Amino acid sequence: MATLKLFNTLGRRKEEFKPLYDNEVGMYTCGPTVYQYAHIGNLRTYIFEDILRRVLEYNNYKVKHVMNITDVGHLTSDADEGEDKMEVGARLAGKSAWEIAQLYTEAFFKDTERLNILKPHIVCKATDHIPEQIALIQKLEAKGFTYRTSDGIYFDVSKFPDYGKLAGQRLEEKEAGARVEVNPEKRNPADFALWKFSPKGVKRQMEWDSPWGVGFPGWHIECSAMSTKYLGQPFDIHCGGVDHIPIHHTNEIAQSEAAEGVKMANFWLHGEFMIVEGRRMGKSEGNAYLLDDLIKRGYDPLAFRYLCLNTHYRIQLNFTWQALDGAQTALERLREHVRTARAGGGDPAQGKISPEVRERFLAAINDDLNVPQALGVVWDFVRSPQNPSDKLATLLDFDRVLGLRLSEVHAEETVEVPQEVRELLTQREAARKAKNFKEADALRAKIAQLGYDVIDTPQGPKVKRR
Ligand code: AMP
Ligand code: ZN
Repeated sequence: MATLKLFNTLGRRKEEFKPLYDNEVGMYTCGPTVYQYAHIGNLRTYIFEDILRRVLEYNNYKVKHVMNITDVGHLTSDADEGEDKMEVGARLAGKSAWEIAQLYTEAFFKDTERLNILKPHIVCKATDHIPEQIALIQKLEAKGFTYRTSDGIYFDVSKFPDYGKLAGQRLEEKEAGARVEVNPEKRNPADFALWKFSPKGVKRQMEWDSPWGVGFPGWHIECSAMSTKYLGQPFDIHCGGVDHIPIHHTNEIAQSEAAEGVKMANFWLHGEFMIVEGRRMGKSEGNAYLLDDLIKRGYDPLAFRYLCLNTHYRIQLNFTWQALDGAQTALERLREHVRTARAGGGDPAQGKISPEVRERFLAAINDDLNVPQALGVVWDFVRSPQNPSDKLATLLDFDRVLGLRLSEVHAEETVEVPQEVRELLTQREAARKAKNFKEADALRAKIAQLGYDVIDTPQGPKVKRR
């Protein structure tokens, strides 16, 4: 059986994955900063992490998945300068920082649900863990890793010899490349804030008392405090997007390992960016789409998921509408295979999965989550002659990893049509019954705009994707 190999950023090579304890896997994924809607680039990273979790589960590991919600302390630059993103987001929305945290957290989970991303077992908010963060800073203080400036408590990276090991950068190289120093009170340019004081004379919306003065935690400390609390230290796997390697994760390692004297996590996995015309997709770049934008244009959220599955997570994914069209078509074809198998009397409970096909699928996903190759196995399989029950059993088994909700596809076509289209179809029927043909035609045009044709059959109207 193919063993699971994962590319570990720490050491930059594929390594065989072995959990620290029996068959249980502790997995920590850095969650969203909830000051705006997540864009589809962010969502690509969460899909990659979802695939990782599903592959672990497919390999019969019992996963404990923890994700934080950054609802305070992430400043507008990843270094410790600028304003808190939450306070900026609140001002722009004309709401309180607490309100927007709730609003965007809910929106985030609505998106992940639509993408069939499994919910973490533990979702923890930074603002709910202030005492844990303070305790960790005190531990670092007692061990001599911290110092005080006029605006906060900082971590002295020169005291931690392994600083930069994740990024494969030596401290001197990092400092040589650092831009002009903005905070002259820092001892080393790479030093970072553990606790920031509220500016004098300013009442922040989010601030807490601490042994050092009123303020708020630095961005990185929450992940060190919460991962240790829920997973212990060391734990198995930590992940995020590639942008986290040089700063956020590097600083998490420095804090956790300086405090506990043991490794923070065994495996570090990072997903590459989604890009648009060669540039990273980003909220501040002005080139970001939301999942809602895709849905408004008539795309199924799972077509976006399929698009992500089709590119290996360590390769940049260039987003184009054409590629999304291709993904939607491929997804529809896959569903059609399920439909036909069901219509042909297939029953997955009666079907057998060929060990040879399963091994090929497993070999692909276990080779550092090579899902594009696994999809190749799936397509070879569905195109070869199969009895309907075997076909269903195999596809539904593979879908435990792919997460395309194939088990919800039934012989009846209209089931997978988006809710919005189904509602428009019902309205059109009502208009036709009332002999309001102008209205009925307008509704048909609206349905067409969403990418569906209405076909009137003796059994009533049906829709078909173009
Ligand atoms: P944020 O909410 O900004 O903290 O980002 C959430 C996650 O999305 C992080 O893991 C980032 O690394 C990741 N991310 C940010 N931009 C992109 C992008 N263009 N493509 C893929 N992942 C991204
Ligand atoms: Zn983190």
